[in-house]
Amino acid sequence: MNSSAPAPAPTKMGDFIRDIIDGDLEANRQQKVITRFPPEPNGFLHIGHAKSICLNFGLALEYREKLPDSGTRCHLRFDDTDPTKEDTLFEDGIQEDVRWLGFNWDDLYHASDYFEKMYEYGEHLITQGKAYVCSLTDAEIKEYRGSVTAAGKNSPHRERSVEENLDLLRRMRKGEFKDGEHVLRAKIDMSNANMKMRDPLLYRIRHTAHHMTGDTWCIYPMYDYAHPISDAIEGITHSICTLEFENNRELYDWVIDNLIEYAKFPSRPRQYEFARLNLNYTVMSKRRLLELVEGKHVSGWDDPRLPTIAGMRRRGYTPEAIRAFCASVGVAKANSTVDMAQLEFHIRDDLNQKAPRVLSVLKPIKVVIDNYPDAQVEELDASYWPHDIPKEGSRKVPFCKEIYIEQDDFMLEPPKDYYRLSPGKEVRLRYAYCITCTDVIKDNDDNVVEVHCTYDPETKGANPVGRKVKGTIHWVSAKHAIDAEIRLYDRLLSEESPPTGKESEFLNAINPQALQVLTGCKLEPSLAVAKPGESFQFERQGYFVVDIKDSKPGNLVFNRIVTLKDSWARSQKK
Ligand code: ATP
Ligand code: MG
Repeated sequence: MNSSAPAPAPTKMGDFIRDIIDGDLEANRQQKVITRFPPEPNGFLHIGHAKSICLNFGLALEYREKLPDSGTRCHLRFDDTDPTKEDTLFEDGIQEDVRWLGFNWDDLYHASDYFEKMYEYGEHLITQGKAYVCSLTDAEIKEYRGSVTAAGKNSPHRERSVEENLDLLRRMRKGEFKDGEHVLRAKIDMSNANMKMRDPLLYRIRHTAHHMTGDTWCIYPMYDYAHPISDAIEGITHSICTLEFENNRELYDWVIDNLIEYAKFPSRPRQYEFARLNLNYTVMSKRRLLELVEGKHVSGWDDPRLPTIAGMRRRGYTPEAIRAFCASVGVAKANSTVDMAQLEFHIRDDLNQKAPRVLSVLKPIKVVIDNYPDAQVEELDASYWPHDIPKEGSRKVPFCKEIYIEQDDFMLEPPKDYYRLSPGKEVRLRYAYCITCTDVIKDNDDNVVEVHCTYDPETKGANPVGRKVKGTIHWVSAKHAIDAEIRLYDRLLSEESPPTGKESEFLNAINPQALQVLTGCKLEPSLAVAKPGESFQFERQGYFVVDIKDSKPGNLVFNRIVTLKDSWARSQKK
């Protein structure tokens, strides 16, 4: 599937949100399903957002199939109510990421599209005695709010007249006041058990230009006011968000119930909360990702160590694998942490079917085959696919007197169960012959720098007669190999969960092995034409992708996507 084609609905599994929707449709409370994905354009998306994207866009795809002409759809909406942190750069990145994941929005909106309406509704709430302008400072507002165990107390400005409130709000809009001088608040209940209902802020003054509306506004709506109104204006039927918004739901309902008659919203949206995705060995909050990027602990938002969609794309993860992973995690009501191994399983599972097998030597050592004719080159036929993958295709790999093998595949004094190359021992070269080590050449420090072997000409594609050769190793022709830089990526953190406590402490948990750069790696010559973004399985090594940013013809850079097996648990034990 090409990545711009609509994503197939992932394996459908029932979950409580689908149950709610089915119930609404059966009881005719709703005749269609309209969802939205509402990112704030203040950073790049991460794998947690992918879960929300798969859910919201996935629901629209699924229910459109069941209700073809109902208007069932999913919107992309930028929740751009805080001009101090937001940027079109992030909007472009988010759109690219959603498309790359395989989804297309039916409409694209901004919360800022509705600023005029929101303002009008603010005036309406004032006229209804449901909102007032408060002139306490931030600190006073906080103090007056009380705590979970103590009721708050009323603001001294709570009983301002409708006229005075309207006058103040209009002058706030005109720019007559400084940041923080006044706010618009809902008039609800300062002793409500739900702190969110204690006269929450609806508007604040911010003399900051907005990336969409420029200098039109110097007052901006708060999330809890803007979000329900945006949903209601767009006719969202099921407003799905993560569990931390559970307490906001009462306010969400309050805003809609107090405006629906006046505003004639096309729908009465309901908010449902599901568990956010947490993954071990990484960090996911935008604040922490920003800290990693700004502190230059990583190379940017698309650093392949990050769990950002841009980072995963560059790492060589596929949209299909990420969608399958999200489907496997499911949608639940209880928070939990998913094991990184589960994501890696899906990456391998997908690439196993897609990535042709090739030969490359990451840490080379030269092998000279003394009895092989000096000038001879054989072009050996090598299949791109193992027998259990129903695909065809092969290429020629050149074989000659001098080759490279992996340093790890040779040992001077091997343990008993070592089946690779060592003095006097025989090993099979993948697609080629069996060779036997006859001698080694060492440098002044006693390091082996060259291995000498003989080959058995009878063993090309055939088993040697009268003896068993257990090990098979990979190799490349020294004369034909091309050089490449290979970046070995591993998990961002060396600890399962980042240390809690002080904010930046998680930086201490960064895995120093999360990026290892190897240069002078030797690749089979067919890879000279590999294109950025193309992925391969390097036999016995793992899955690798041509880096989309730094790889150039003649100067190839590959990223390790994932190892062939889950070696993390084992390496940690060591
Ligand atoms: P973060 O908390 O990671 O910094 P955010 O919640 O501030 O991100 P938003 O742009 O507000 O980011 O998120 C857009 C949507 O994605 C929201 O509906 C939010 O609930 C959802 N979302 C964010 N993080 C996750 C997650 N880890 N798992 C599932 N959904 C998520
Ligand atoms: Mg948030």
